[in-house]
Amino acid sequence: MQTGLLIGGKFVDGDAGARIAVHDPHDGSLITEVAEAREADVDRAVDAATAAAPDWGNTPAAERGRILLRLADLIEHHAADLALLETRDTGHPLRDTRGLDVPRTAATFRYFGGMADKVEGTVIPVERGFLNYVDRRPLGVVGQIVPWNFPVMFTSWKLGPALAAGNTVVLKPSELTPLSSLRIGELLAEAGLPDGVVNIVPGYGATAGARIAGHPGIAKVAFTGSTPVGRSIVAASGGNLKRVQLELGGKGANIVFEDADLAAAVAGSAFAIFHNQGQACIAGSRLILHAAIADEFLERFTALARSIRVGNPKDPATEMGPLTSPAHRDRVQSFLRIAADEGGTVLTGGTAPADPDLAAGCYLDPTVISAEPGHRIATEEVFGPVVVVHTFDDETEGLRIANGTEYGLGAGLWTRDLSRAHRVARDLRAGMVWVNSYKRVNPGSPFGGVAGSGYGRDMGFEAMHGYTDPKSVWINVDADLPAFYSGG
Ligand code: NAD
Repeated sequence: MQTGLLIGGKFVDGDAGARIAVHDPHDGSLITEVAEAREADVDRAVDAATAAAPDWGNTPAAERGRILLRLADLIEHHAADLALLETRDTGHPLRDTRGLDVPRTAATFRYFGGMADKVEGTVIPVERGFLNYVDRRPLGVVGQIVPWNFPVMFTSWKLGPALAAGNTVVLKPSELTPLSSLRIGELLAEAGLPDGVVNIVPGYGATAGARIAGHPGIAKVAFTGSTPVGRSIVAASGGNLKRVQLELGGKGANIVFEDADLAAAVAGSAFAIFHNQGQACIAGSRLILHAAIADEFLERFTALARSIRVGNPKDPATEMGPLTSPAHRDRVQSFLRIAADEGGTVLTGGTAPADPDLAAGCYLDPTVISAEPGHRIATEEVFGPVVVVHTFDDETEGLRIANGTEYGLGAGLWTRDLSRAHRVARDLRAGMVWVNSYKRVNPGSPFGGVAGSGYGRDMGFEAMHGYTDPKSVWINVDADLPAFYSGG
């Protein structure tokens, strides 16, 4: 596959000729090297996107949609290879990349392909004599910066609505996981996307990422990543007042009430935290258990955690793979030391698997820690297979714990009481709430958070509107204009 920067429809070397080594987190082996984009390369990509913007913005919406639909078909055609590529690059188990990530990527492009010609303007009922309509215009060139945890899926979440709305794009995948985005770049050309409409520039945050955030020719930056970097992007956007959309970190609260279906809650809560090794912004990383069921829940939950098959992500039987990089594994482990220093108790896990075949990889067993709500392990995003447990005695206390971090992204609750389900869903500080489930996503449902988790939304009409500017047009149909001045 291509490993250059995609600029203006060609895969090219970076100006500085530098390369980024891409490693397999299962054993640290080198997969390949890709070209590294620096500031000058981002500038070239913005030039290409700027040149392509007028024609793409004027391409009939149905035609833009058709290209995205063709892309979705191509992704399905190449699904097996794409899933394996994503698994090697990220460590995400093959059964997930095959069963979730790649199908969801195709579904997202298909959804926005279908939406392209369905975003309608409006006619506003103004005073008689005038016709006022609001048209939705593309923004021009948008910059998109994505992280390493679900690279192929996030490529579709970002590109789908931006392209459907008629924008051109400079997309920067994470330096750790650039491969599937570059492959999507190849498939986009095969689907018939004109040169320069999508430019893909793998590179580091401090160079390529910061240049996107500050570039005067970029109208909007859509960012998925950590909260500190999100803040720096907002600061950098001030130069040309570019729009910013931020999908940032989370510390998902997952509340289990005393009347919950415990079997379902145990299974759903395990998926909530251990899927993708806990490397999910919406991970249910705080289990908030009603005291009456806490012991029984934890007995079943820790038994389930211990049964999860941790191993080589390329083995279709593997349920949990390695963390995505050695540096990230070290960061997650540092949180385990912090938790111990704070007086937290490890209920299960906390160490690397004993299997010698996994010794060279970035592995950590599913980990459950009992801790106080104010502890750092309970308030900061760990982004690994680590869940903290708290107990509560009544709904008010449960909600107070749930809403007690700086974040507000995803949250869940398990109960059979319908009124409580609605009440707690209403009062949870979160952009997304799941009742008797966790971590459901759909291309039609807005995805994003509040407070320290950012603002703006991926997915659905919310995302599409976020890639357009409303233009209000006034037509004098038959109005007599009042004479404001006495002369002439
Ligand atoms: P990160 O913030 O370190 O990096 C994300 C992206 O930003 C990468 O492409 C990186 O190269 C780039 N970047 C880094 N510094 C930059 C800078 N100064 N200017 C511009 N770009 C820069 O995050 P990560 O470690 O790759 O991903 C994990 C984080 O992403 C977690 O905090 C997680 O919660 C968050 N995340 C959020 C969502 C969401 O939808 N809310 C989804 C997934 C991940």
